[in-house]
Amino acid sequence: MADIVVIGGGAAGAAAFGELLARYEAGTVHWIVGRQAPGRGIAYGTRDDRHLLNVRAASMGVFAEHGEDFIQHASRQLGQVKGTDFLPRRIFGDFIQAQVGARIDAARRLGRSFRIYPDNACEILPRGEGGYAVRVGEQRWLDAGQVVLAVGALAQRALRTVSPAALDSDAYELDPWRLERHVTPPRRVMVIGTGLTAVDTLLSAAERWPHAELVAVSRHGLWPFTHSPLPLAAYPGQEELNRRLLTCDGSASMVRLVRAAFDEAPESDWRSVIDGMRPVNALLWQRLSHARRRQFLRHARWVWEASRHRMAPASGQAIHQLEEEGRLHAIAARVLAVDGDGPLQVTVRERATQLVSTMQADLVVQATGLDTAVAYGAHALLAQLLRDGLAVADPLQLGVLANVDDQLLTATGAAQPGLYAIGSLLRGNLWECTAMPEIRAAAHRLAVQLSRGQPLAATCDGVGELPRS
Ligand SMILES: Cc1cc2nc3c(=O)[nH]c(=O)nc-3n(C[C@H](O)[C@H](O)[C@H](O)COP(=O)(O)OP(=O)(O)OC[C@H]3O[C@@H](n4cnc5c(N)ncnc54)[C@H](O)[C@@H]3O)c2cc1C
Repeated sequence: MADIVVIGGGAAGAAAFGELLARYEAGTVHWIVGRQAPGRGIAYGTRDDRHLLNVRAASMGVFAEHGEDFIQHASRQLGQVKGTDFLPRRIFGDFIQAQVGARIDAARRLGRSFRIYPDNACEILPRGEGGYAVRVGEQRWLDAGQVVLAVGALAQRALRTVSPAALDSDAYELDPWRLERHVTPPRRVMVIGTGLTAVDTLLSAAERWPHAELVAVSRHGLWPFTHSPLPLAAYPGQEELNRRLLTCDGSASMVRLVRAAFDEAPESDWRSVIDGMRPVNALLWQRLSHARRRQFLRHARWVWEASRHRMAPASGQAIHQLEEEGRLHAIAARVLAVDGDGPLQVTVRERATQLVSTMQADLVVQATGLDTAVAYGAHALLAQLLRDGLAVADPLQLGVLANVDDQLLTATGAAQPGLYAIGSLLRGNLWECTAMPEIRAAAHRLAVQLSRGQPLAATCDGVGELPRS
């Protein structure tokens, strides 16, 4: 008997657990979900219906065979919804929980063995005879043949420019999803970041504090572009473009090709060109050298993120309306310092003029996006894996090193037997691996691969049949 342990209670952990429940029969599937409601994670834990999915309902699903399930589920809650709609993320969180619940019921009927732990995984130690001992909470140890890390991105680290006093004060918020902690209405809220998380934070702040002035600051001051209200026709030259992109030797030549595609086909929206690159994005990333990746992160990432990870049309409308009403200002500037202990003094250097100025804000919220810099020790379990040589940090701080089978690599480049990851931790290897369409595919692939490790019992007609536990 070889048990499998899945660590992480977000959408990726839920997808991996559910896929394993459906096919793994050689042992118990353990799911260590942490201390929050299982299945929702950061993205789908929100209760604010202004926080919308940035993927159309028809493309959202938890498991590989997802069909129209989410649309039907959402229609039961909201009335008739269309596959082209961008729905509240809360509804998708409910859906994940319902889908995992259904897999659990099916597993019970089939007599499959599984357990769920509402605690953190704190340590993973290799066993001499192979496999791992996984510590859950303070005392409980689980034996596992294989372990899947689905721990998502790390909690945000404070920017280096924030003084200890500011950080300790109630006026600096490191968790953009906890605005409700701030009871006194602020006169000015400053959000550091202008990405998707910043957008949601600003929409919540605008509703919660209708008289507050809102300021968003990021190096380029660029909001994510918006999705078109209806799906766009595919760019006819996409296949050829993707083929040519794969022959490029750097991100500059890729950008030139993509720009040319925008110009060549003015009748196709640029957004369909970007979306049509999805099947080759991971390959393109893998073909870049370390230096080219670094160059991309420094010079092109901001515009790629804004173009690729777009906001729902309703979110875009709400942000632009706040700007038109004069309640919200976006500034392209670098934050040089955050001082004081409330209100805070935020010193910025404006990008266009290089002028340095200081603004006062009653509340500063950091919304600087996914942090996957595991080397800085913010995540206890990952820090232990790095310390013990079971994992190695990606040199560009994009999670951990892994091979094409999503198996972690050691410092010698060898695959760590039975230790896998899914989701944000694999950005160094896959770059685009954090949205549900990619996570769903990865969970399915991994579950099939781990289940295949079981010996096949021969049947009389020679067709393999999985043994029952
Ligand atoms: C604000 C936001 C909006 C998004 N919107 C969309 C969208 O509309 N569509 C889309 O496809 N994608 C969206 N995404 C991408 C999103 O990242 C994925 O869809 C998905 O939610 C990622 O899930 P995850 O499980 O990898 O990570 P997380 O949601 O971060 O979950 C990881 C979980 O693991 C737990 N954990 C960590 N360490 C341990 C430990 N040691 N032991 C036990 N548990 C642990 C954490 O507490 C957490 O619950 C969005 C992301 C964000 C942040």
